[in-house]
Amino acid sequence: MEVILKCPVCSEKCELLDVVDFNKSCEELRGFYLPLSGKAVYYALCNSCGFCFAPEFGRWGLGDFEREIYNHDYAIIDPDYLSDRPRANAQIISSMLGEKKDLIRHLDYGGGNGLLSQVLCDQGWNSHSYDPFVNREVSPNELGKFNLITAFEVFEHVPDVSRLMQDLSMLLASPGIIFFSTLLSNSHIKPNERITWWYASPRNGHISLFSNDSLCHLAEKSGFSFGSFSEGAHVFWNTVPSWAKQIVRA
Ligand SMILES: [Zn+2]
Repeated sequence: MEVILKCPVCSEKCELLDVVDFNKSCEELRGFYLPLSGKAVYYALCNSCGFCFAPEFGRWGLGDFEREIYNHDYAIIDPDYLSDRPRANAQIISSMLGEKKDLIRHLDYGGGNGLLSQVLCDQGWNSHSYDPFVNREVSPNELGKFNLITAFEVFEHVPDVSRLMQDLSMLLASPGIIFFSTLLSNSHIKPNERITWWYASPRNGHISLFSNDSLCHLAEKSGFSFGSFSEGAHVFWNTVPSWAKQIVRA
């Protein structure tokens, strides 16, 4: 029996592509393997936009993610997430835009424990952190609007792409830009080929894998423009703020 699914990005037809063990983790890139869990995770691929996702996680609630993925063992397979990565990302933002900080109201979307934002605040930035998993008592429509939103390593973790884009659209001021990181799946995930890519790792919560086309499609649906600095660093914008023109040339 063939399983037919609808693409959460472009609504076209998707088919199951492959199945991996739940304990497949990004640390396998460095030769570290968790024991097999015995739990199968299927990934589906959109024939049209190339978005690849694990449909099962669309049915999970926050409690399921907290228990199964973002639990006390999470640091084993993502050792940098608590401190090193937020500090490094704060440094990137600061060195790129520190001189313009007085013109910027910044939100770190999916900011986890809020460390990136805290580091920027300590440097005099107007920066806020919001994470749907952490700040559950906060509704994003209470936060106001921001002319700079960052979302580092957020997109691949999101079970509901429409909710993500709704939040970002609501939170972005005009003019405004969204810097985000996620690795493009283009050369790594293909129809009729097994999934061997290290980034497709359920244990890390990497459940939504974006091709260049799928990000283009998301941008178009939200009325954003889209560009990439590299395979992993991207930007959405409505209108480029004057302080960002040195970085994004629309
Ligand atoms: Zn699609």
